[in-house]
Amino acid sequence: MECVGVRNFTSMAVCLTSSSSSSSRLSLRRKNTARASLCGNAIALDDFHLRRDRCNRRRLESFLEVKAGAGSESCVVTKEEFADEEDYVKAGGSELVFVKMQQKKSMEMQSKLAEKLPPISIGDDILDLVVIGCGPAGLALAAESGKLGLKVGLIGPDLPFTNNYGVWEDEFKDLGLEGCIEHVWKDTIVYLDNKDPVLVGRSYGRVSRHLLHEELLRRCVESGVSYLSSRVERIVEVSNGQSHVVCEYDTVVPCRLVTVASGAASGKLLQYEVGGPKVSVQTAYGVEVEVENNPYDPNLMVFMDYRDYTKQNVQSPEENYPTFLYVMPMSPTKLFFEETCLASKDAMPFDLLKKKLFSRLNTMGIRITKTYEEEWSYIPVGGSLPNTEQKNLAFGAAASMVHPATGYSVVRSLSEAPHYASIIATILNEDHARDIIIHKRSKENLSMQAWQTLWPQERKRQRAFFLFGLALILQLDIEGTRTFFRTFFRLPEWMWQGFLGSSLSSTDLILFAFYMFIIAPQNLRMNLVRHLFSDPTGVTMIRTYLNI
Ligand SMILES: Cc1cc2nc3c(=O)[nH]c(=O)nc-3n(C[C@H](O)[C@H](O)[C@H](O)COP(=O)(O)OP(=O)(O)OC[C@H]3O[C@@H](n4cnc5c(N)ncnc54)[C@H](O)[C@@H]3O)c2cc1C
Repeated sequence: MECVGVRNFTSMAVCLTSSSSSSSRLSLRRKNTARASLCGNAIALDDFHLRRDRCNRRRLESFLEVKAGAGSESCVVTKEEFADEEDYVKAGGSELVFVKMQQKKSMEMQSKLAEKLPPISIGDDILDLVVIGCGPAGLALAAESGKLGLKVGLIGPDLPFTNNYGVWEDEFKDLGLEGCIEHVWKDTIVYLDNKDPVLVGRSYGRVSRHLLHEELLRRCVESGVSYLSSRVERIVEVSNGQSHVVCEYDTVVPCRLVTVASGAASGKLLQYEVGGPKVSVQTAYGVEVEVENNPYDPNLMVFMDYRDYTKQNVQSPEENYPTFLYVMPMSPTKLFFEETCLASKDAMPFDLLKKKLFSRLNTMGIRITKTYEEEWSYIPVGGSLPNTEQKNLAFGAAASMVHPATGYSVVRSLSEAPHYASIIATILNEDHARDIIIHKRSKENLSMQAWQTLWPQERKRQRAFFLFGLALILQLDIEGTRTFFRTFFRLPEWMWQGFLGSSLSSTDLILFAFYMFIIAPQNLRMNLVRHLFSDPTGVTMIRTYLNI
């Protein structure tokens, strides 16, 4: 395997940014130029992008210097890490350096997996199941599968949970995880403009990443999961029907079945459907801070604040992106603010988000007196489903379980883990019985049962609907986005609440679309019709609903 050193990686990352993604960069420039001219502003965007590229390169270099200086990993990324351009975008694309900074945060309160879980003993009995990846999805699935008596090995780097997760409180309670919520707001509020805000009528919680990590690890310990701290490089099918999981330093772990839960950028380990929609990205830059002049009520979590804070002519490129503020007031003076771009074909850069956040806070008269933490949230949304005919299984973000319109996946992964594990156990038991009777294996067919559980036709219909919605949102400017959400919150409560809670069936979603169409203002209505018949996601949605 070719290992690209620090210097080479710098040039590789820069080269990937400016060459392989040059077409997307070009389209971003075109889009910005179009937006700028629409607003009547002459902004030197090329100059701006040049400066941004230089700035990103400097950050990347200094990040790599810090890492090399710290003596941790001299080789940060290898060329072989990405399967293709799409995989690179899912991993972080032009924002990769920030994604790495987010993943490498140190969280001293969280236990090391290797200290609590027994090591996978290689060369002894063969494992029933290997789960690749130690995020929430991997840990939850490993624990549930071990609970059913399967011999489970978990493989992945021994990293803490670093993301700030937010959840609807009732959903986490249903999972028996209320003890992992560190702060609850009794209600959630949405501001679209300076008129009446919308109260969602549902309590929201901030997950303690430390407690969630400890709880999922405890469940793994209890169910006898063993562990290897390593990156997986490939999975090899061997003639006796087993799989060999090949890790760093050519360590090979044999097993009967593999489930990949290594996050969105899993193209090296999984096959995805060809010709599907391109992935888009939700980016958000957040800070946890101590402030003076906080205008937000500490009893309410602010899900989206789309109000126009500038009240003046748009002057700079970042102000052209339709973003909103997500606010978790922890106390009257301590808050978590996150400037969020719901989705964009080319990720809205963190530098722009940061600039916009500080400009917003400044205009609102909020003065930061202390910063506790920065967050770089990069969530690939949409994109293709995994190919459901492959033998290896997937779970979590790797299995495209991230909601295309919201970026959420944690609750879905945690709630589906027990059922998915039971299907895997059934498959392995059937496979064992079949071995005894006919000495023949046909794992692909058996794996299809598990893929069916994850992506039945009903789920595919819902996803096609959300992808259609995502493509619509991508086209809207800030005023279009406000009009969309104004209409959304005028729907019957069960409908918009069900949409936010992902509880609407594919039939409910059609009803939702009709209702939206009826009450929408004329321009949004026209947009919906145009979009349905001109955007490829419209045709895909119709075909998926009709099962053709
Ligand atoms: C800052 C941030 C905030 C977010 N907030 C929310 C939220 O509030 N609610 C929500 O639902 N979602 C949120 N998301 C989105 C998404 O749900 C999370 O990214 C979630 O962590 C996905 O879980 P996962 O276990 O599928 O994958 P990940 O958490 O990405 O875990 C994948 C694991 O696999 C490991 N891995 C990668 N490659 C390999 C390999 N080759 N071999 C072995 N191991 C490998 C990684 O080290 C990692 O530990 C957020 C994302 C970010 C970045």
